[in-house]
Amino acid sequence: MAPLECSSIADFDVGVTLGTGSFGRVRFGTHRLTKQHFAIKMLRKRDMIKSNQVEHIKSEKKILQILSKDQHPFIVNLAATFQDPIYIYMIIEVIMGGEFFSYLRNATKFDNETARFYAAQVVLIFEHIHFMDIIYRDLKPENLLIDMEGYLKITDFGFAKIVPYKTYTLCGTPEYIAPEVLLQKGHGKGVDWWTLGILIYEMLVGDPPFLDADPIQLYQQVLQCKLQFTQSYDKNAKSLTKKLLTPDLTKRYGCLKRGAMDIKTSVWFDEMNWEALLKRKLHAPIKPALGSNTDTSNFEKYPEVDEKALPLEFDGPDPFGDF
Ligand code: AMP
Repeated sequence: MAPLECSSIADFDVGVTLGTGSFGRVRFGTHRLTKQHFAIKMLRKRDMIKSNQVEHIKSEKKILQILSKDQHPFIVNLAATFQDPIYIYMIIEVIMGGEFFSYLRNATKFDNETARFYAAQVVLIFEHIHFMDIIYRDLKPENLLIDMEGYLKITDFGFAKIVPYKTYTLCGTPEYIAPEVLLQKGHGKGVDWWTLGILIYEMLVGDPPFLDADPIQLYQQVLQCKLQFTQSYDKNAKSLTKKLLTPDLTKRYGCLKRGAMDIKTSVWFDEMNWEALLKRKLHAPIKPALGSNTDTSNFEKYPEVDEKALPLEFDGPDPFGDF
């Protein structure tokens, strides 16, 4: 992606909301000068300061900048960032197919081949970011987008961290949280491989393996790690899922001497052509229906709120400096 000349939101025509997060919205936008389309992540400074998220967002920017240098085919690219007194703006490659989450919920569950196609892309994403000593820590269907060709793009690096070895912060989404995160004894790249196990299970069953409305009960299930598979669960997928959902880090696939190779060479991936996948040459099982490159119909419709009616000002110095 060529560097983008922009320094304020006035450089863009801002369109509909594509999605919402805790601190703002992601909108469809068109760069006025080049007519290129982007996802514009608009984050309210006031809300981020109130919830102590300033460092998280700074880290998200730094990590996306590092990763954007390589333009990995399955990671969204960051084109630019800027700010004004109210918002932080992140100008991101827009992915028009919509959320992987919606496709999975519509289908209830995926067949073995479809699940393998997506799981393999997540393997390549984690292999790449771990090589750069970055852990993602928030894999879930909501953070995966589907591009026009039906391939995945991972988004939202808000929980990602540069960690050569271990970190201690409790974070993630309850159903996807790894036992070592709950036990707070320090965690590392292994958490991502755990979440891959949860994702594979959720794709093949329709629900994650550990599920309870009460987080305490849910965490107990995670720590006990009793897995129940459906009849239709492919036996090789089952074997890999068990190797990933292994609480013992000295035995979990992805965390052993051969790293991601143990996963890539597991029987479930026997027929996977990893090189062709990385070059995006494989047939994608789902192709989003798109009218044009400005067609946002694959995203849910969000009521457009009048942001100016929200409390946006904050007291004290602006902690974002020259963000
Ligand atoms: P986030 O705050 O990054 O989790 O984004 C919230 C939602 O905005 C996502 O779940 C998507 O629906 C949408 N979104 C985020 N990034 C993009 C993107 N690059 N292209 C299209 N939609 C996006």
